[in-house]
Amino acid sequence: MLADLNEVFQIANEKKIAIGAFNVVNFEHIQAILEAAEKLNMPTILAFAQTHEENDIAYLEEMGPVMVLMAKRAKVPVVVHLDHGVDLDYIEKALKLGFTSMMFDGSSLPYEENVKMTQKAVALAKKYGVTIEAEIGKMAGITLNNEGITENRKSDRSMYTDPAEAKDFVEKTGVDCLAASFGTVHGEYFAEPNLDFALVKELSEQTGVPIVMHGGSGVSHEDYKKVIANGVRKINYYTYMDKAGGDAVSKQGPYKMFSDAAKVGRIAMEKDVESAMRCFVNMDENIK
Ligand SMILES: [Zn+2]
Repeated sequence: MLADLNEVFQIANEKKIAIGAFNVVNFEHIQAILEAAEKLNMPTILAFAQTHEENDIAYLEEMGPVMVLMAKRAKVPVVVHLDHGVDLDYIEKALKLGFTSMMFDGSSLPYEENVKMTQKAVALAKKYGVTIEAEIGKMAGITLNNEGITENRKSDRSMYTDPAEAKDFVEKTGVDCLAASFGTVHGEYFAEPNLDFALVKELSEQTGVPIVMHGGSGVSHEDYKKVIANGVRKINYYTYMDKAGGDAVSKQGPYKMFSDAAKVGRIAMEKDVESAMRCFVNMDENIK
């Protein structure tokens, strides 16, 4: 069934868990995620990021209706979320397709500009009755802003979100949740992730809203537990799911038929998503 972020955050807050948000660029991603969520009877988030379009991988106007249809048919609450929207016209396209949630990412803008643009994005979210996530602080990895895609693999503390600024930002904009920078990286990690758990706690206490962790792939299960204990309620996870599918196909191939390869990839991705979800929702006690 279709849900928005506030509905799934209610469940997450009660159970002190995080909800996984998974980017989808093909039908096998959607199947893998929903099969895992239904198996565990847990809510989930299907996300489409504006960057996928820039990379010529998938198109919102094609993926969006399929995401909404599959979310409606699911037996668990499913949020259909536009991830990293950098322009409001693009975000509105998603909302017109029936997305229940959006992220406006103005993190590459100067602070005051980010506040102003996020306020406009909040007004748009209200118009459509959907939830909104926004971001302050800078994250390492691949980023899309108005100048296109940039890549910076180095994460340093000067990029981290400042708790006082985060408090001010949430008060001024009224966003439902906040994506923050505390050491994670978008895409693959080239060094051990070094997360600032005390900062997560401070951000959570100062803002009073759920904290969103981007760059969730490649973080150890132990670290997931720690960020969740400190107030993270949404974890964006994509790269390792997609990689699990790619690895399985490479190992078990070659294939003559694409549909055979796609099935192998889908099953491997479902396993990877299930393992991540079990950790996020505290159902992994007996699993290594
Ligand atoms: Zn992100």
